[in-house]
Order: sequence, then C-alpha cells, then structure tokens
Amino acid sequence: MLLNETHDPGLPSWVASAHKADTDFPIQNLPHGVFRRRQSKEAWRGGVAIGDAILDLTAVAALPSDERPMDDEATRALLAASQTSLNALMALGPTAWHALRLALSRALRVGAPQAAAWRSCLVPQAEAEYQLPVEVGNYTDFFTSSHHALNAGRVFQPGRELLPQFKWLPIGYHGRASTVAISDTPLQRPAGQILLPGQPQPVYAPTRQLDFELELGVLVGTGNTLGQPLPLAQAEQHLFGLCLLNDWSARDIQAWEAVPLGPFMAKNFLSTLSPWVVTFEALAPFRVPLPRAEEDPPTLPYLDHPEQVRQGAIDIALEAQLQPAGQASLQRLCLTNYRHAYWSAAQMLTQHSSNGCRLQAGDLLGTGTLSGPAPEQAACLLELTQGGRRPLTLPDGTQRHWLEDGDTVVLRGWCQREGAARIGFGECRGQVLPHAG
Ligand code: MN
Repeated sequence: MLLNETHDPGLPSWVASAHKADTDFPIQNLPHGVFRRRQSKEAWRGGVAIGDAILDLTAVAALPSDERPMDDEATRALLAASQTSLNALMALGPTAWHALRLALSRALRVGAPQAAAWRSCLVPQAEAEYQLPVEVGNYTDFFTSSHHALNAGRVFQPGRELLPQFKWLPIGYHGRASTVAISDTPLQRPAGQILLPGQPQPVYAPTRQLDFELELGVLVGTGNTLGQPLPLAQAEQHLFGLCLLNDWSARDIQAWEAVPLGPFMAKNFLSTLSPWVVTFEALAPFRVPLPRAEEDPPTLPYLDHPEQVRQGAIDIALEAQLQPAGQASLQRLCLTNYRHAYWSAAQMLTQHSSNGCRLQAGDLLGTGTLSGPAPEQAACLLELTQGGRRPLTLPDGTQRHWLEDGDTVVLRGWCQREGAARIGFGECRGQVLPHAG
C-alpha cells in the first residue's frame, strides 16, 4: 500500500490534543469505532478517534453540505461509517475507505475552512462508552507466531519441535462470534471439565489456570463469493483494519479437551476486542518484510507473492499489562511485536478462502498469540510461567502462575519509527471476576 498525503508526519490538526507526544490518535491514524456518551440513552453511532476526542460522524453527516466538503464516494462512506456498526462501511471496499479518510484528514487539518462547524461534532473520549465496532459474523483464530507454537508445544510436551505443517500453512480453528465482546466486559471465571494431576477421572470445576493471549484481530471488509478463493495479490484489499484481541484461555480445560480436535470450551467463554479499528491504510508506514530464514520450507505459490515477502508484516509494538487484584498500578507482563508473526494477515485470508469458504464483511480473524523470539516477548502466561511450573515475578514483586480473581489485563499496541507519526490502538481491558455459581 502506497503512502499518501494522509500519512505526512508534519500534518497539523486544529484538535490540539492530537499533537500530544503520547497520543495514540494523531491525525495520521483516524481509527473507526462505535460509541455513545456514557450512561446516556443516546443512539450508538460511528466515530473516529482524534487526540482525546471522538469525531461524531452522525453530527458531521448532519452538517449543511457546504460545511461538509466531500465527494459522493466519501459522503457514501461517511453515512456508512456513522451507523451502529462498521459493517456497512467495511462492505464498501478500499476506494470508499480511502475517500473518507482523505476527506476527514483534510477537514481536521489546521486551516480547514470548516473547522469551526466541525468542532461542535467532537465528543470527549473521557465521556464515551463503546460497543463492538462490528457485528462479528464469524470468528476464526489462527496460530501465526512460530515462537508461540514452539514454546506452547514444549509446555505440553518438552523437547517437541515445531509441527511440520506450521510453516506450510496458516493453521486456525473456528471460534465463536457470539462470545466476542467489547473491552471492559468483565470475565467471570469459567468452569469446565478438568483432569487434576494424579486423579483417575476429571471433575467439573472453575478453571485454576486462567490465561490471557495477546493477539490482534483482523477485520474482513469485502468478502468473496462462495466457491471462489481470494488470490493473495488481492487479499489485502479485502481487509479493513486491525484491533487488539485478548483470547482468554483456560489451560486446564484445554489440556484435557484439545486432542485431537483443537480448542473448544477452553477458549469460547470470552474473547475481548478493543473499541478502535486501525485501518490498513493508517498502518502503511509501518510495513516490514515477513520473517523468513534460509532453512524455512518454500511457500506454496498460492500463499506466496513478492509484495508479501517484501512488506507483508507490520511493525506493531504490543504490550500486555496486569493490574493485580486490589492494586492501582499496572505491571508489564510482556512486550512483543506483530512483525515476528510467520504468516501475514493477507495470507490468513487467502488460506481461509483457499477451498472456496466464504468470508464476509465483519468476519474476525485472530492472529493467534503474538509471542516473539525473546523470553520477555512471550504473549501469554502459559509461556511466561512454563505452564505454571515457574511463577512470573512482576516489577513490583507480584507473582503469578495464572490470573487471579480481581486481576485486570490491559493490552496496548502502537507503531513508531523515524519519519512517521506514532499511531496507537488505544487499549483492550478486562477484569477477572470470581466464578459465579
Ligand atoms: Mn488464541
């Protein structure tokens, strides 16, 4: 994807908070979400984050047309983006997404003649609450970090090598769209069937091995026709954007149930998404080569494309933090990066459609746990504690084998490099509540 005037790191905005050094939402980002004022009866509606505010797209759409200088394509995208979910916008495709981004970027710049009118369309983020930005039709979780695959495999079976198929195809499983929820949704500790050590038979009990997984959620924009695979060269044009995703997991339930068919009840009790969707266009300045080593097997032609090798990966720093039960401070659990994933988002989409399976606007593809090569880049407790065998000690001395009741997990992500404006994802948060019942 090419850089254009919306990526210019020198663009000034008349929204002063968009210039704070640590803001996730400068004018070069413009992520989409769905919001309303907290504790209000207002309608849910689409907005774009700018600095510490939200540009209310229903308010922009209601301005007189001379205060809203947009071509037909951008106007159509604006109306779609202001609805109670982003699905209609996502279904319009990349030309419309770009037209809206360009129009919003121009109107939010210093000197835009409509600044005075648009200022009345801002809502402080501090006053907002969010709902899921998309109606998720289907949810598939992949397994794209070879570091996670290797480390997690070794917890269950010491010395195990990477499974032979891992570097031939992006592996995934079908999850549950119905238990995808927005950031800040509390997680009640789930119960399930668990085989306790040394016991002859399993029990049904609250999980003792509750974990987080730091992932990104890839949101499908335009889908494909049933029976028609999406070629890799075109796959990325079908992808709308990325959000943070916490794929909460119960490792004791997983260990008992997962062989031979893979994750089931250990994963489908809650998957938490961040409110803001960062578009692939906003991420264009942060593209990097896919990680490939001399000894890696060849990639089959349908999953291979020079553009993907050259810039299929994205440099996104990803952090998980723990706010331990009863404490105010946040402690770092891990700091990793999306650039270490072996398979790109486009390769995930191409693989998913490779047998003709139909993908649709609003489908969610999880990247899988995004562990990197270094130990502190392990992106779940299963790896950080070697399956609970060795506690993780946090900077303030707090120790954890697994998540405890009252713990809050916060995920963050951001992109930063010389010559580009820093952009971020906001946060994805969830607190563990005691098992009920
Ligand atoms: Mn996962």
